[in-house]
Amino acid sequence: MTVTVSRQPMTDKRTGILYIVSAPSGAGKTTLCKMAVDWFPGLRHSVSYTTRQPRPGEANGVEYWFVDDGAFDAMIRKGEFLEYAWVFGKRYGTSRKDLERLAAEGADVLLEIDVQGAAKVRDAISGGAYIFILPPSIEACRERLRARGKDGPEEIDRRLNEAVAEIRKALDYGYVIINDDLQTAFEELKAVIVSERVKRERTEARVRAIFGAYMG
Ligand code: 5GP
Repeated sequence: MTVTVSRQPMTDKRTGILYIVSAPSGAGKTTLCKMAVDWFPGLRHSVSYTTRQPRPGEANGVEYWFVDDGAFDAMIRKGEFLEYAWVFGKRYGTSRKDLERLAAEGADVLLEIDVQGAAKVRDAISGGAYIFILPPSIEACRERLRARGKDGPEEIDRRLNEAVAEIRKALDYGYVIINDDLQTAFEELKAVIVSERVKRERTEARVRAIFGAYMG
């Protein structure tokens, strides 16, 4: 038997859901988030701002908005970030305005941010879904970083040290996915996204609109 779950959000007029996804480098977070955004039409990726250099193949406005320190400082001064953090010696931040625009469109939004950023969002906003993606082992993490060929050996060591620090925070998250097999991890991520959508507090208004007359 094949069971098909709708990829569409349940109602036209609704408050979007904020999904906060963290993971150490090499856990496969970016791949999984891309797969999720491609799968669910109502799900959008929030593009962060960063002061790091683009890697080969990255484009401005796609993976990140790449800005210099001056522009990042100006955004901090104007209070434009919902959160920002130093990661691997560079700054990364989530634009408040971009999120508000996506929310106004009724989109569900995926924030791919580090554990410091996630803690700040948790303080600032209620009701988000917090998802942590783990590699099956530290060794697998090292192998994935090597295989993607984007960072040199020193950067890989640095990212692995940071990975261990991030992994300690995994159990602060509401959902934890161990990415041993990409397809299985993707099924789990889809299940999380759908289960957040059908939570009672999010479907109550629709239930009342349909069955209110019988509910007293
Ligand atoms: P990378 O340089 O590999 O793309 O990302 C490095 C780390 O920065 C990842 O853990 C990523 O999730 C995190 N990151 C990306 N965007 C943001 C952001 O807007 N805020 C915070 N706090 N972290 C971010």
